[in-house]
Amino acid sequence: EAITNGGNQVIHYDGEFAEKIQHRFSLERELDRAIEDNQLALHYQPQVDSTGHLIGAEALLRWRHPDHGWISPNTFIPLIERRGQMVSFGQWVLEQACRDLKAWQQRGSFNGRLSVNVSPYQLQAYNYGQKVLDTLKAYDVPPSSIGLELTESGMVEEASSSLAGLPLLRRAGVTIAIDDFGTGFSSLSYLGRLPIDTLKIDKAFVDQLGTRKGDALLKALMNIGQSLDLKVLAEGIERENQHRALQEMGCRYFQGYLFGKPVSADQFVLEQPKAVSVGASDF
Ligand code: C2E
Ligand code: MG
Ligand code: MG
Ligand code: MG
Repeated sequence: EAITNGGNQVIHYDGEFAEKIQHRFSLERELDRAIEDNQLALHYQPQVDSTGHLIGAEALLRWRHPDHGWISPNTFIPLIERRGQMVSFGQWVLEQACRDLKAWQQRGSFNGRLSVNVSPYQLQAYNYGQKVLDTLKAYDVPPSSIGLELTESGMVEEASSSLAGLPLLRRAGVTIAIDDFGTGFSSLSYLGRLPIDTLKIDKAFVDQLGTRKGDALLKALMNIGQSLDLKVLAEGIERENQHRALQEMGCRYFQGYLFGKPVSADQFVLEQPKAVSVGASDF
């Protein structure tokens, strides 16, 4: 029942368990100190194209608790959101991602796209799009080297006014992906209305590969993406046979333990061959 194994891997728990540890360890209150006490970190996971070339990375937030070790974002992001602190944590994430990306770019060790997860609470904040662009400018990071990953629920729950920043971001070159696509079980009408570049197919679908219905669902999701001229990236690829089956269905972009687990910024550039540049890879 420990919430850490001490390494890069983070153990996942359901909401009920999150409720329990919240009470046991007062995690919520301790979050207040997490930023100033330097307990947050971003880990990076590679994203590859169909030939296996590195095209980008996803930044994944980790909390290194002084007593309890690495805690999963699935556990503490809901606590941040409930406490109304997602805007400041989200800003920390974006700035840290910019610092790491800038360092990689300056060393010439990465020229792919860096994707950052964004909570619906951040999208709602006043002038969100412009604030992101201001941050990128402050860190001298080209908008075309940044992607944002939004969940489906974030796209539909919010009034359209809160999505007003997206066209601005996209015009500047930032790409927008729908994360965990197909799991939100919500209206698809946003796909036709919103400026989106990429669909990220959730691991839950990849895990159903090889069953008749699972294959049919994946083909249907691929079809939606292709008909709308969206890029489709499949998440949670752990085995070569999954990679192959998805390629046969026309999937061109992949992410998962098969290609690399999330690791620290330093380890990422040690492990990964140089990324195909943003412009060259069309991702
Ligand atoms: P996500 O954005 O869908 O990220 C993918 C999750 O799947 C990550 O979990 C990643 O470590 C895990 N994963 C990737 N490949 C594999 C695989 O092959 N097998 C398995 N079993 N897992 C794989 P992680 O890092 O625990 O993050 C969980 C979720 O927390 C993310 O799901 C995202 O929704 C959220 N999150 C992470 N960082 C941030 C952040 O900075 N801001 C916000 N708002 N949410 C974040
Ligand atoms: Mg994501
Ligand atoms: Mg996802
Ligand atoms: Mg997810």
